[in-house]
Formats: sequence, C-alpha cells, structure tokens
Amino acid sequence: MSAVLHIDLKNLTHNYKYLRSKITNETKFLAVVKAIAYGSDSVQIAQHLQNLGVDYFGVAYAEEGITLRKNGITIPILVMHAQPENYERIINYNLEPNLYSLRTLHLFSEICLQQEIKSYPVHIKYNSGLNRLGISLNELPKAINSIRKGELKVASVFSHLAASEDDSEKEFTKQQIDSFENFQQQILPSLKEKPLIHHTNTSGILNFPEAHFSMVRSGIGLYGFGNDAKFDKNLKPIASLTAEISQIHQLQKGESLGYNRTFKSNKPIKTATITIGHADGIDRIYGNGKGYVIINDQKAPILGVVCMDMLMVEVTDIACSEGDTVIVFNETYTANELAEAVGTISYELITGIGPRVKRILKKT
Ligand SMILES: *Cc1c(COP(=O)(O)O)cnc(C)c1O
Repeated sequence: MSAVLHIDLKNLTHNYKYLRSKITNETKFLAVVKAIAYGSDSVQIAQHLQNLGVDYFGVAYAEEGITLRKNGITIPILVMHAQPENYERIINYNLEPNLYSLRTLHLFSEICLQQEIKSYPVHIKYNSGLNRLGISLNELPKAINSIRKGELKVASVFSHLAASEDDSEKEFTKQQIDSFENFQQQILPSLKEKPLIHHTNTSGILNFPEAHFSMVRSGIGLYGFGNDAKFDKNLKPIASLTAEISQIHQLQKGESLGYNRTFKSNKPIKTATITIGHADGIDRIYGNGKGYVIINDQKAPILGVVCMDMLMVEVTDIACSEGDTVIVFNETYTANELAEAVGTISYELITGIGPRVKRILKKT
C-alpha cells in the first residue's frame, strides 16, 4: 500500500482529558482544528471533540469553518484569520470572525449596519507582542466606536503568546500577560456584555496557569505534542504514518542512488525504495542522511534526495522484504523526533502530510 496516516481517536480523547485536567472546571476549552486538524482529518476530529464537550472551535480561515458547518458541527467557531472578502459567508454560516485591526472592525461593523444585523458575535484580538495580528492599546477608542456603531457583540477578547514554550523567554511572556491584563481593564468597562478572555495556546496552558483566564486554546496538545519532553510523556500522538517497501536493491561500491547522484556508495549496501515522497509531506530536507524511516524497529536513514513519490533508505543491516510496512512516525518514533532531526518542529511535519496520503480512523 502507498502511504497511510492512521488516526487514533482514543489518543485524542486522552489528550483532551489531560489538557482539561490542567484547567479549572469553569475555564472553557477552544479546540484548534485549523489546517485539516493539523494534517489529520478536520471533520472527524471536530465531530469527536464536539461529542467530548469542547466549548469552541478555532480555525484559521473561513473556508475551514464552512466545512465544519456543512458536516454537523454546531458549536461556536472562531475564525482566527478572518478575511473581509469572506465576511458575507462567515455570517451565512454562523461563524465568528476575529476582528484584529481597525480596518477589519470597521468593515465588519459596516456590513452589520447595512444588513441590520444586531449583536453579531465577534472576537477582538489584542497585540500583546507577537506583532502578527491584533490592535494596540492606542487604537482602542476607535475600536470601541466601531463595536458600538455595528452593534457588535464582543464574544471574546483575546491575544496570543509569542514564546510560551520557551523557558528563556519567560520574562517576555510575563510582560505579554501583564500587557493583556492592562488591555482588558481598558476595554471591559466599555462593553455591554462580559466577553470570554483567552491568551494561551497549548504551551501556555501547560506553562502559564496564571494566564488561563476564562478560556484556553489548544491545537498541538490535542494531537499529542507538548513542545517539551516533560509534557510529551503525558500526551499521545494521534497520528501514525506508514508506507511500504516497494523494491530492494543491492548497490555495489561506487554506485550512486537517486536523482543528481548525491549519494555514492563507498561499499556494497542494500537499499529499499519506500512509497512516500515530498508530494506527501516528506520534504527534500529529510534526504541525504538527515531523516529516516523505521523498519523492524531500526532507523533506516534516507539516502540521496527525496523524490516526489518515493524515497530510498539504507537497509544493509536490517532484515526486511519487499511489501513490508515501514513506519515514518508513530507513538514510539514520534513526528517530533523526526522533525527535530532536520531542524524543524512537529507542527510543520504533521500539517504538511499531503492529500494523497490515505487517512484511516481508529475509533476504539
Ligand atoms: C494555531 C493557533 C493556536 C494553537 O496553538 P498550539 O500551539 O497548536 O496549541 C492558538 N491560538 C492561535 C491564535 C493560533 O493561531
């Protein structure tokens, strides 16, 4: 078989319960299911999490939220990077936009005014230091004007931490939290209703309990990674990626392997060709000895360059046959470890798994 991503919903339940155990009963939980639920399967994951009782979903773009609405998701969905060209669709599908700038606040407010929509739930993002999206403190008076003009309902006020996994940036994170608290004090008296307040992603949940406020947001933790060995041991990766050995070759000394002949053998070796390539998310950076697959519980290094549909590994000392299944990552040989071998992070590896890779769900 070509490559398969096995998704274990039991592990998802485990991770959700673990993360929930880190917050109080009153704190709400927003599950981040953007980017196909971090490369897995957004609809199946969201349905499972909805059944488990999450309070909110977070997606990056409107289209992701629409997919969920078309597939039985009824709880609130925050569109964290809502674009003005999609505001009509956002309203039609009962999604909740993040209004992260004076421009977006103004545009959304105008639409509500024109369509005579009152109390549409929106989310106001404050820039506490990531400098990606969010309004600043001195923009607050104008932001309040737009909120009033459009008669918007502020469902939440939130911000995002820049380095919540990073011990050496603890002081900066604390400054972000203080700055967000100051913003809350300024905005809350001007709002009609009491919004939810949220600041933390997975690492923030685990490292900064003082910043949980009334809701937390988690993505990577639900999928099994805590950005820190001490948290990883309590979480279970939900996705395992397997592929197959399609052919085995014996290379003589001096023969080369793969495109551009970047590998040349200085001794006789045995290689296996594997049914996964850079079109499936195993980028070329994993080639030339940096990445590996697991065969028979042993690491088989990827030799030469990764091709579009295949890659080649060395199996000189590994007992294996054509047709055998190989592991790219699983609960034991984690995506995090493989990603780190090439200097990247689990997020990038798992969200990059291509659409050609078949997703198979394991429910019990
Ligand atoms: C992606 C994202 C998250 C999830 O972060 P994790 O580290 O995966 O938990 C939370 N908040 C915002 C604004 C995001 O963009």
